[in-house]
Amino acid sequence: MKKIITYILFASFLILVGCSSEKDVSTKSGNNEKNQVIASFYPVAEFARNIGKDKVEVITMVPAGAEPHDWEPSAKDVGQIQNAKLFFYNGGGIEPWAKNIQLGKTTTAVEVGAGMFDIDGKTDPHIWVSPKKAIKMVERIRDNLQEKDSANKTYYTQNAAAYIAELKALDEKLEKIATAGKRKDFITLHAAFGHLAKDYSLVEKSIVGLHPDAEPTPADLAKLVTFIKENNIKYIFFEELVDPKVATTLAKTANVETLVLDPLEGLTSEGQVAGLTYLKIMEQNIKNLEKALN
Ligand SMILES: [Zn+2]
Repeated sequence: MKKIITYILFASFLILVGCSSEKDVSTKSGNNEKNQVIASFYPVAEFARNIGKDKVEVITMVPAGAEPHDWEPSAKDVGQIQNAKLFFYNGGGIEPWAKNIQLGKTTTAVEVGAGMFDIDGKTDPHIWVSPKKAIKMVERIRDNLQEKDSANKTYYTQNAAAYIAELKALDEKLEKIATAGKRKDFITLHAAFGHLAKDYSLVEKSIVGLHPDAEPTPADLAKLVTFIKENNIKYIFFEELVDPKVATTLAKTANVETLVLDPLEGLTSEGQVAGLTYLKIMEQNIKNLEKALN
């Protein structure tokens, strides 16, 4: 079922791509000033777009609705990266292909999250869900855009500052709800919130591991049910891009409610049409997290 949905989403993505490449041709004749930048998947692309705005065209490799952990580039995708001057990727193992592809002669690849992945000796790529680390990612993207396009240095400084102010507001909200919350632990489907938990002194218990396709064993689930009952937990978080079956089954067995905590690994096609953004989804995540912590 999940595969069928993925194919449908992929097919609609191809239609979208068809439309946008036509648009590219028309803008090329009018304005060839835009720098083309490649971003591996949603959060990296979203940050780059908010800094580059009118001066940068950001092409996202992983399409809407696809789960980045499972995605692989086609030969055409690799060709596009080879032709770009800048290729931003997150790192930490979520896009293992990014480190292995042959780059073009003038392509600079930037691991945006370099140095930020460690959680108690373990590498966890999900840094963007922590606003504290998202700010550092934005700074690194800004610095690299400025290096490649020094004529627009001030423009990138201003855009990055405005976006960092929004991230700072999220950071303050998270600090507030984490400090005020009656409890410190929350339960998620796949372990995408370790950095958020670490940076805001919370504890994430996940049903599956770092990869959303991992299947929990019956023993894992039994342990979690006991934990939920013993600790009087009322909510379990699931997410948009993966099958919520495990979370809903667990919720029924343990008699708890489910809420969405979006790991922002990508937008769904509906979310994209509805104009959802990293900032809007994080606001909703914080609201839901506040509910679960009280
Ligand atoms: Zn993940």
